[in-house]
Amino acid sequence: MAYQVEPVGFIRSCFKEKFAIPRQPALAPAARGTLELVAPYDNGDAVQGLEQVSHVWLLFMFHQALESSPRLKVRPPRLGGNRSMGVFATRATHRPNGIGQSVVRLERVEPGRLWLSGIDLLEGTPVLDIKPYVPYADQVPQAFNGMADAPPVLIPVQWAGAALEAAHAHGERLKEPLVALIEQCLAQDPRPAYQAPVPERRYGARLWDVDVHWHYPEPGLIRVLDIALAVIHP
Ligand code: SAM
Repeated sequence: MAYQVEPVGFIRSCFKEKFAIPRQPALAPAARGTLELVAPYDNGDAVQGLEQVSHVWLLFMFHQALESSPRLKVRPPRLGGNRSMGVFATRATHRPNGIGQSVVRLERVEPGRLWLSGIDLLEGTPVLDIKPYVPYADQVPQAFNGMADAPPVLIPVQWAGAALEAAHAHGERLKEPLVALIEQCLAQDPRPAYQAPVPERRYGARLWDVDVHWHYPEPGLIRVLDIALAVIHP
């Protein structure tokens, strides 16, 4: 039996590509975006009362990771990308129905638009439903997860030459905490764990309309090399 679902809205995100998005929400509080609701949910009625809520659950489609054939085992990046696990034991993006869920901070509510932070969502992500976080029901103090019991280990992020100045200037132009966003995302080391870092290799990711490049001068240390306005093709 098949069911059809329709998005209630779409994400406008600081993350324009998958690389360097944190692996879970709340890991980069400076990661901001909006959820643009579509008709009929863009009417203020659908969000009435939500201003009393600090966090929401978003159920969404991993629209850039959809696959036609089911996978029973996946190799989560968290385990270094070389150990496979049952798909239902992981939060991997490749899933039976391509559905993701994230609890994110709700900064502001307006008719047709939710302002969010701490997101781990790509630009254009279709959102299927929104539910208020209910602390007494959703918090589980005695919960454990033997594979993912602690947040990722952070590594130091340094800035080369004029990169920090450029990041500050772009942050002011965008009216966004860009320096914090870069530091929070890179400190989690977005590089696949199985790839040994070589100092000559440049890595890059697009945040808002800015391309950020960095390298690993030594294992366990990131240096931001340059920040430049992205060339966006229409
Ligand atoms: N918190 C969610 C969950 O548990 O279902 C997502 C976890 S998943 C491991 C996080 C990764 O999903 C991010 O690092 C990003 O690369 C990827 N991602 C985010 N939005 C996506 C989208 N719309 N399509 C495909 N991948 C996406």
